Amino acid sequence: KKIVIVGGVAGGSTAAARLRRLDEKSEIVLFEKGEYISFANCGLPYYIGGTIKERDALLVQTVESMSTRYNLDIRNFSEVVGINRENQTIQVKNVQTGEVYEETYDELILSPGARPVVPPIPGINDAKALFTLRNIPDTDRIKSYIDNESPKRAVVVGGGFIGLEMAENLHERGMEVTIVEMSNQVLAPLDIETASIIHKHLEEKGVNLILGDGVKAFENNGTKVITNEGKEIETDMILLSIGVRPENELAQKANLNLGERGGIQVNEYLQTNDPHIYAIGDAIEIKDYVNGNPTMVPLAWPANRQGRAVADNIYGKKVSYKGTMGTSIAKVFDYNVATTGNNEKTLKRVGIDYEVIHVHPASHAGYYPGASPIALKVIFNKETGKIYGAQAVGMDGIDKRIDVIATAIKGGLTVLDLPDLELAYAPPFSSAKDPVNMAGYAAT
Ligand code: FAD
Repeated sequence: KKIVIVGGVAGGSTAAARLRRLDEKSEIVLFEKGEYISFANCGLPYYIGGTIKERDALLVQTVESMSTRYNLDIRNFSEVVGINRENQTIQVKNVQTGEVYEETYDELILSPGARPVVPPIPGINDAKALFTLRNIPDTDRIKSYIDNESPKRAVVVGGGFIGLEMAENLHERGMEVTIVEMSNQVLAPLDIETASIIHKHLEEKGVNLILGDGVKAFENNGTKVITNEGKEIETDMILLSIGVRPENELAQKANLNLGERGGIQVNEYLQTNDPHIYAIGDAIEIKDYVNGNPTMVPLAWPANRQGRAVADNIYGKKVSYKGTMGTSIAKVFDYNVATTGNNEKTLKRVGIDYEVIHVHPASHAGYYPGASPIALKVIFNKETGKIYGAQAVGMDGIDKRIDVIATAIKGGLTVLDLPDLELAYAPPFSSAKDPVNMAGYAAT
């Protein structure tokens, strides 16, 4: 079998490694238009901020190490520019020489990811120090600008996960940071009362937070940001992080079905409407695990899970991808904030009735030093107890509580089961009634 993969980072390299484990003899060709494969996207903000010191640490696998280890034909600087479904061939452009050639496939996997949204804001093309962050070259550009130009002020446009992580890391580099966010809260997957705790903390840390206001224009080569409400912010650099859109051009040109928001549509086996073409990762539309509606969730867990599942499916294993819950977490200065499943906004939009409980237990026994409060919110169905989602924010133990609840949701446990979870306890870690147990008691 000859299997061709488009995109060599999270989804693509996971698929390649699994394919090789399943079959020693198959021909596996992986195309990546950039220089690097299998790099740590999620680590990029921390390298810019200086927490991660070595650039090499971001390169999880190199073309050489991965080719040798898994016996793969990896071609970087190679952009797949067309798919001929009838002949089962693709057109590949060598981006260094411009040469275009054809390659055949038996099965094709698309994992091209999603790219930062860059809207045509007036003045954007003249902005000298305007950046987006997706890959290693972006990271190099941002880091060398900071290292060489020592900017004093930064504006982060968009208060999503990447925006907040970058705000913190730019602040770490000594800059005065302003976040401009169009909606009335940061981190859209949270509800407002959870996000408000983060708003307060950002302000405590000296980050200027402008909510409910968008960018209208960039002026003076991007040294001035003008908002819709007429605010003017002087700055030395701008990071645009207002979301991503799926890289769907190849799929579209090949007449593969796309969803309303442009995600490549796949069935539960991650197959597009062409049975020989699969798609995974940020580029696809998936089912919301909680409410069943189509959605897109650009996160690393889904890309990795799907990368493995797609390889299994190509070898007839029929691994069904059941949807994405959007379990996610971020560090925002001294706080951690995490969420899983649906928030109230989503449930309202899709018309699902729900009940909410909030508990504020300590992260571990109060008499043992270092405990801090956790704000934990659980959203569930009043009649059945089905858990729709949860959010937590605090300084410690946030990941554990959300991961336990995410597991409960996947396992089909209800809020009625939460008191009965027997969780690890000693004073430095938790209380004899863990916060997750407490949420269960509060709900029942
Ligand atoms: P990618 O990993 O983006 O890989 C797609 C690759 O395909 C790209 O390298 C691209 O160059 C290549 N490509 C595209 N089109 C073509 C073509 N036509 N021909 C050849 N190659 C092509 N997720 C989390 O869950 N937690 C985090 O903390 C987190 N932090 C993040 C921080 C940053 C700064 C960024 C940018 C992302 C972060 N993510 C995080 C998201 C996560 O990295 C993505 O969800 C994941 O990488 C998606 O995998 P993918 O394979 O779909 O796409």
